[in-house]
Amino acid sequence: MAQTIPHNMRVISTNKEMSQACREALKPVGLVPTMGALHPGHLSLVGQARADNLTVAVSIFVNPTQFGDKKDLQGYPRDMEGDINLLRQHGVDLVYAPKVEEVYPDGFDTWVDVGPLADKLEGLHRPGHFRGVATVVSKLFNVMRPDRAYFGQKDGQQVVVIQKLARDLDMGVEVVIMPTIRELDGLAMSSRNVQLTPEQRQAAPVVHSALCQAYLLWTDGERDGDKLRQAAQEILRSESMVDSIDYVSVANISTLDEVERVEGRAMVSAAAHMGPVRLIDNLVLE
Ligand code: AMP
Repeated sequence: MAQTIPHNMRVISTNKEMSQACREALKPVGLVPTMGALHPGHLSLVGQARADNLTVAVSIFVNPTQFGDKKDLQGYPRDMEGDINLLRQHGVDLVYAPKVEEVYPDGFDTWVDVGPLADKLEGLHRPGHFRGVATVVSKLFNVMRPDRAYFGQKDGQQVVVIQKLARDLDMGVEVVIMPTIRELDGLAMSSRNVQLTPEQRQAAPVVHSALCQAYLLWTDGERDGDKLRQAAQEILRSESMVDSIDYVSVANISTLDEVERVEGRAMVSAAAHMGPVRLIDNLVLE
């Protein structure tokens, strides 16, 4: 018979209580920042955090400052009750789920700007996005003072931004990156995927297929950036359910500048609109 191990998970909504809980917690503390509507991608981060640390904290906060579009923010999937149940089952110790006013009280005015990295790729199409991300992650680090923080490769530019933020501001947090978890057909798992119609959902793996095409050419020895970008573009364009393509990129993994030739590590990434969803994905060439 299946047994459930009793597990006390605390759900906390104020900075003060969360800071205290983390101060008193068994160390090391691992933090998994999320916007909720949890799926197996998030849970792989939680699993690694559980394996590495004595205390696991998960934050659930749909951060308004990283959304450009009010409608996108309002329509963002939310399932607090479901998330809390899942996290309890996965042995999480502390859940931090603050209200917007707790994170951004009246008069909030200090922002973390990560420099030129924030203006490329996603940043070009979502101005202010990484300022919002860097600011909220800095605040979460300050409230919880985790020893480690876990992020997914799914958001490839975010990984580069967070690693730089942690280094530049001496955050004293070890940033751990976990691989992208995918559906069986290759689609990268994302909270937003539930917003796709069945037809769109069926077509959505095209983003991964496009990146795989570039990856395959690269493994065959192709090093010309334009050729790799074109190959991925062609596949994306061939799918009629793709409404528009924001970018297809082959970029240096540290600077995120487009490369003419792939010499060191590079990231091939793409963003495309399908109905209400903006699909993003990436593969690392290494
Ligand atoms: P989000 O809730 O979308 O802000 O994501 C929270 C964290 O989970 C981020 O570090 C994401 O990169 C990570 N994540 C989201 N989807 C996936 C996925 N499919 N595989 C791995 N990590 C993911």
